[in-house]
Amino acid sequence: MTLTTYADFHVRSLVERDAFWAEQARRIDWHTPPQQVCDTSRPPFARWFVGGTTNLCHNAVDRHAATRPQAPALIWVSTEVAQERVYSFAQLQVEVEAFAAMLVAQGVGQGDRVLIYMPMIPEAAFAMLACARIGAIHSVVFGGFASVSLASRIDDAAPKLIVSADAGSRAGKRLAYKPLLDEAITLAAHKPQAVLMVDRGLVPFERVAGRDLDYAALRRQHDGARVPCTWLESNTPSYTLYTSGTTGRPKGVQRDVGGYAVALATSMDYIFGGKPGETYFSTSDIGWVVGHSYIVYGPLIAGMATLMYEGTPVNPDAAVLWRLVEKYRVTVMFSAPTAVRVLKKHDEALLKRHDLSSLRALFLAGEPLDEPTARWIAAGLGVPIIDNYWQTETGWPLLTVAHHIPGVEAVPTRFGSPGVPMYGYDVQLLDEQTGEVLTAPQQKGVLVIKHPLPPGALQTVWGDDARFVNTYWKSVPGREGEHEVYSTFDWGLRDADGYTFILGRTDDVINVAGHRLGTREIEECISGHAAVAEVAVVGVADALKGQVALAFAVLRDPAQAGPALEAELMKHVDAQLGAVARPARVLFLTLLPKTRSGKLLRRALQAVAEGRDPGDLTTLDDPSALAQVKTLLQK
Ligand code: ATP
Ligand code: MG
Repeated sequence: MTLTTYADFHVRSLVERDAFWAEQARRIDWHTPPQQVCDTSRPPFARWFVGGTTNLCHNAVDRHAATRPQAPALIWVSTEVAQERVYSFAQLQVEVEAFAAMLVAQGVGQGDRVLIYMPMIPEAAFAMLACARIGAIHSVVFGGFASVSLASRIDDAAPKLIVSADAGSRAGKRLAYKPLLDEAITLAAHKPQAVLMVDRGLVPFERVAGRDLDYAALRRQHDGARVPCTWLESNTPSYTLYTSGTTGRPKGVQRDVGGYAVALATSMDYIFGGKPGETYFSTSDIGWVVGHSYIVYGPLIAGMATLMYEGTPVNPDAAVLWRLVEKYRVTVMFSAPTAVRVLKKHDEALLKRHDLSSLRALFLAGEPLDEPTARWIAAGLGVPIIDNYWQTETGWPLLTVAHHIPGVEAVPTRFGSPGVPMYGYDVQLLDEQTGEVLTAPQQKGVLVIKHPLPPGALQTVWGDDARFVNTYWKSVPGREGEHEVYSTFDWGLRDADGYTFILGRTDDVINVAGHRLGTREIEECISGHAAVAEVAVVGVADALKGQVALAFAVLRDPAQAGPALEAELMKHVDAQLGAVARPARVLFLTLLPKTRSGKLLRRALQAVAEGRDPGDLTTLDDPSALAQVKTLLQK
């Protein structure tokens, strides 16, 4: 058989858009088939599989429970409380129906919002699937967010009911959720009718009479309850989820039902190559988009077992992830560069302690994957490392290499680039000044997606169509009026072979004496030095040069910090990028300020370095990172 090139396949997915997606739509069960594949009559909005009715929970659970009831569906491992549990598809359905019955008993129905503020425990997945089952819109908020961030999300989502638990746990430290939740509800203008509490017995908590419900008691009461799936028109909202807040106030991404199910089913096959009966392991959290798409919905829709992990990559030791791969014969794994960088601070031999023969690939997303990190983990694990670029908004990878499309040539990976545009995404690079399409290789431009966004991408910003239109579709000069291009707010560059490189966010470009430099390039260079584990570069206002670059580095061995290494790193930049890119200073920290999802908060670093108020820090993980910066800069 002769193979089509991936480029031809990609073009077909755009030119024959409706035929392409109609074919993919057959991967899921429809209660009534769609009448129209894509409705683009009201740009920039798009409606997928119009008129079709389906249900995410049916596709993730029931249809597999019907054919393979005993196959494992949800594998839960907690190294925090030393517990492991495996639910088959049949058992998962029982749990989800009981959960759905509790929601229904509280008067929760189609279109009502349910906010889920939970640690990584099976009940969190039950809650999401139960909402999907009855058409309630879930809004998962990352567990352990402080009360102010939680309160703003409660007000935005206006949930009828909140599902929570007594506590989460991180590296053995218990984190009580209930006081944070109570405080958030006090702060919020919107008051939920009920709070459903899962009591893990980790931290005692107060119950509010008439509002707080006990999950265990209700679970017994609804044991064996049957709640049929509600068939939902494909464009009914399924959930809302906030972006990470790396660049400002988080946006409430709203997703549909049918388009999302089809997009995930297709990606599980074409991108991840996952097969029913196998085990998928994503180290993310259900509070993030990766957790939605590739802990809960994607693997289950594909009939795979999904491994849900409560714990860190280094507890009890830095081989824990690989022990799980061995034990559960994981075939596909998904993590983030930030997790790999954590492992990189530990002995490489730990990567080889377990039998990884089941593992076919490790996918990494969320942040730029620097080449040294990619090479380190690739050599250590001996499997392909597959970078993939996407956003909360897109719901599934936009740039990567798809290895599993029948009849289509595989695209080899290339270090430093997540890959090529995925089928269904009409990606362009635009000149930031004129909005013109850049077609020649090695030109740097704003990465945009042409209308319509493919199935699975956001429908709108929850409750704020105007913010959706104005934020994403009007930001490129020369293109404001047309509702034609969606901006990712990331810089990209295409090489002669069509690989796209992500050069950072459009607001991460700095201007040193008239030279425009991407902070990402300087970071990539510094992180290539053997002494450096992690680095962040920001532009800081400078009276003489406009801006100068400041580098903040975390070392593999903190004892090496000092003027000698600072000078050496500067020389390293001079040699690789040239003196214009040389940071004015390299400061050594023991940790970098990151969002809870592990993304660098460059805007906060920059603000502190410029002596400004760092603004919204509600998504900041560990405030001590910024405190270190302040102390260093005072010296
Ligand atoms: P906010 O939009 O609220 O500022 P955020 O953009 O960090 O937050 P996410 O949707 O979680 O929220 O992250 C998507 C962004 O992460 C992308 O736009 C890109 O900047 C970055 N990113 C994700 N994957 C990759 C990757 N593989 N390579 C480079 N950058 C990536
Ligand atoms: Mg973003």
